[in-house]
Amino acid sequence: MLWALRAIRNMNQDEAKKYLESLTNKQLVELMSEVFKTRRCDEGTEEAYIQAHWCIAEASRFKTDDGKGWESWEVELLALHDNEQYEGGWSDASPICQGGECTECGTKLFGWAKHIICPVCGAKAYAT
Ligand SMILES: [Zn+2]
Repeated sequence: MLWALRAIRNMNQDEAKKYLESLTNKQLVELMSEVFKTRRCDEGTEEAYIQAHWCIAEASRFKTDDGKGWESWEVELLALHDNEQYEGGWSDASPICQGGECTECGTKLFGWAKHIICPVCGAKAYAT
């Protein structure tokens, strides 16, 4: 993802926004996952007291069966594929359509691959 970060470096805010909007979903998840892995709200707090990092999420809800209302919102974190399982990688155009749950921390996950890495705890997870 360094190519994307280099491309953004010399852009103004509008150019950077247009550039990010032009990325595929997979490219944007990969880029932002790299940026977010060391980003946290409480930057001044020592890690001896708390571990934190940002994650990318999708909030979604479905229409009720009668079509008149909406069910409750659900949040799933977007997960990268497990590089150890896919030597050739994945197409940037891969749809994000595989859902699962981390067996370590219980987080609901969503990604483009069946073998994914939980963005919360780093455990390997499986999605279908
Ligand atoms: Zn996890």
